[in-house]
Amino acid sequence: MLFLINRFNKIFKYMISPIELSQQLIRIPSYSGDNPAVINFLKDILEKMGFSCQILEFEGDNSYKVNNLHAIFNPNNSPTTLYFAGHTDVVKEGNIAEWKFDPFAGVIEDNKLFGRGACDMKCAIACFVSSVDEFLQKNPSPNFGIGFLITNDEESDSINGTKKVLEWMQKNNHKITYCLVGEPTNPTKLGEMIKIGRRGSIGFKITITGKQGHVAYPDIALNPITTLINLFKVLKDQKLDNGTKFFDPSNLEFTHIESQNLGSNVIPNQAWGSFNVRFNDSHKAQDIINFVDFACQKVAGGEGAFSAKYQLEYRITGEAFLSKPQKLAEIVSLANQKITGNIPVQSTTGGTSDARFIKDFAEVVEIGLVNETAHKINEFSKINEISDLQKIYLEILKNI
Ligand SMILES: [Zn+2]
Repeated sequence: MLFLINRFNKIFKYMISPIELSQQLIRIPSYSGDNPAVINFLKDILEKMGFSCQILEFEGDNSYKVNNLHAIFNPNNSPTTLYFAGHTDVVKEGNIAEWKFDPFAGVIEDNKLFGRGACDMKCAIACFVSSVDEFLQKNPSPNFGIGFLITNDEESDSINGTKKVLEWMQKNNHKITYCLVGEPTNPTKLGEMIKIGRRGSIGFKITITGKQGHVAYPDIALNPITTLINLFKVLKDQKLDNGTKFFDPSNLEFTHIESQNLGSNVIPNQAWGSFNVRFNDSHKAQDIINFVDFACQKVAGGEGAFSAKYQLEYRITGEAFLSKPQKLAEIVSLANQKITGNIPVQSTTGGTSDARFIKDFAEVVEIGLVNETAHKINEFSKINEISDLQKIYLEILKNI
């Protein structure tokens, strides 16, 4: 009898379902920062699969405490490793009343799994755990190491997350050869797009101070709105570049313009506006800042009582980066093609991601689900696409 049970267990060994695991992860609400529950949950699963796990908690550098997880399975001490990197933190759900279902219930309806984090990016983490589980059941002693780098702080500060785990890994001699990042990379359906880099991003705010006066006497006033519009025209007319092999041309886009609204016959004292620059790998953030500052000086700067003054504020969200597509990009493309029938576009579009830290250590490719509902009310991923992403990851593991 015991023999039969053992044999039965061997044949029908429990496999981790990517759908069920996705639901379990969604049911643990995990905003950025200190959230040990979700990290401990993953640690327990990976330890049962034979991984050696470390919970890494970092804090300081003007940011909050973050729980991270490093896990490695490398039975043959191979110098080649494939890491999966991702984040368990989610953005706020917004107005719960607008959600069709509780955002932390993981409800399935009409081939869709709803919940905060469904596409960004708990289901991708579930797919990777599930594919590694399936792979190891058939290949218990692979000739490469498999690692997980999971942070609970990608959506917010990103100070005590992936960046510090990578520093810890370097100190502790955990090398990465290849890294998959499970961010949602597809605009409308699975298999369309992978990412091999991202554009850089800087947000600017410029305030022009002129000289208030009567609209009938413009010669003894200085209209900051005119100066601001002139400046914006100079900024927009300047072509930043023509694009590079893997990047679209850099772009400057205005987002806000305002002045003190004192009345229809008053020239205001101040006007201000905001814009964002998405730039490619032919610039560093500082080059863009220098260009904007130079334009400000030329158009708005000046000496004397009737010259405008300007104040420039900016925030760099990230530098542009490219992880040159090599062996991993090829394996990922072929796996993607085998499962979905599509050759994915190698793109560098979209916002920034933790791949910007990893690219200094390994070839990194981002491949995940569809990003259409990321951060939105009623975020969801399609059940068949979650199953297919698990198969893509499995196919990648088979070809490392
Ligand atoms: Zn994300």
